[in-house]
Amino acid sequence: MATLLLRAGLLFTGAGEELENGWLLTRDGLIADIGSGPPPAADEVLHLPNCVAVPGLVNAHDHMYQWATRGYVPDGGLFEWLRTLYPVWARIDADTVRIAARAAMARLLLSGCTLSTDHHYVFPHGRAGIFEALVETASELGLRFHPCRGSMSLGESRGGLPPDSVVEDEDAILADTEAMIHRFHDPTPGAMCRVVVAPCSPFSVSPELMRESAALARRHGVRLHTHLAETLDEERFCVERFGKRPLELMDDLGWTGEDVWYAHGIHFNDKEVANVAATGTGVAHCPSSNLRLGAGLCRVADLVRAGAKVGLGVDGAASNEDSNLAMELHQALLLARGRAAIQGGLDAATALDARGAWRLATAGGAACLGRDDCGTLETGKCADVAFFRLDDLAHAGIDDPLAAIALAPPARAEAVVVNGKVVVRDGRLLTGDEELIARDISAESKRLRERDR
Ligand SMILES: [Zn+2]
Repeated sequence: MATLLLRAGLLFTGAGEELENGWLLTRDGLIADIGSGPPPAADEVLHLPNCVAVPGLVNAHDHMYQWATRGYVPDGGLFEWLRTLYPVWARIDADTVRIAARAAMARLLLSGCTLSTDHHYVFPHGRAGIFEALVETASELGLRFHPCRGSMSLGESRGGLPPDSVVEDEDAILADTEAMIHRFHDPTPGAMCRVVVAPCSPFSVSPELMRESAALARRHGVRLHTHLAETLDEERFCVERFGKRPLELMDDLGWTGEDVWYAHGIHFNDKEVANVAATGTGVAHCPSSNLRLGAGLCRVADLVRAGAKVGLGVDGAASNEDSNLAMELHQALLLARGRAAIQGGLDAATALDARGAWRLATAGGAACLGRDDCGTLETGKCADVAFFRLDDLAHAGIDDPLAAIALAPPARAEAVVVNGKVVVRDGRLLTGDEELIARDISAESKRLRERDR
């Protein structure tokens, strides 16, 4: 089998080693050997002495279709933003999702991301092939992918937030989710696609669907994902409707545990932070989105210190406007320090250090997604690697390369390898045409907006 040798000025394994002039040999999509000094022979060599090589970044929360609806409600909170966007999203189809996912995945790959989830929960009636479009696009661009079969079932007429036009029948949701698991879920080590069960949020699905979704996921050994504790509006909704805070509600519905991770997890009290950690439940922290929507400041440093699994997500591009995961690492670092400075209790300047932020962006995300074969560079693990330049104008001369990329996040990675294949080289995507993707998303965004009028 063909081998690929990767060499960098500095190789950060994420498993305790920072190897100067480090190298990594890949075979069959896995890391066959790793070291520093004289490298072994290989069929193909990628040698970037001006770069730091890191474990590929892991995106633990996203809604890729939202690339087609960026820039709406630039100054509103979550519920206002959602109410404006639901009717626009009601018009998406498989073509919209394919075009938007190409843009989202291209930006993710270009920012050093090699493994991403996508939480897709809008399935307008009669529009076939949406979930399939996501899976096919990831395969086309070469991204390791964990698509979530999301859902909304609680329309306005039943007291939910979304209009009835975008919600689905609960039996149909469960049947289609099971069909997608059968069709696309690969439980084997090194898998390129794993399916996740993901009802959208406490205010857009019923408790019954939450409970039945958890049972379905556990029957098939797949993971569970949902939005939780994102805003105080959501907390009020749960207290008024169910008489419980969001985490208490989820706990009662069987939605805590090693196989569950939440998006956001902002509004947790001390007891809830301890509960999340003790149950092994993961949290995907989405700093840019949380700040963009004014949702709040996640207790990242507290969760990490409590031993919780914490990863990073770009969230949908309608509340981020980009999918640069390296930027989220930077935002997480600053947000943790800003929060500590406001709240006290922790030394603000060290609430989260650069290597801790790197852990969130790599191993932390892999833990949320249940991938013990991803997130660090070690022999036998997946050959997913990102390279960032240290000699460009933005980074030349900065003392500590890992702190450099965290404090001055690059616009794009220099090279990216997924499953032992080079998908980004010289800062350019090899598996798609960026100009064409940009033209397509521009036309599709315009089409969706104009159907508005
Ligand atoms: Zn989200």
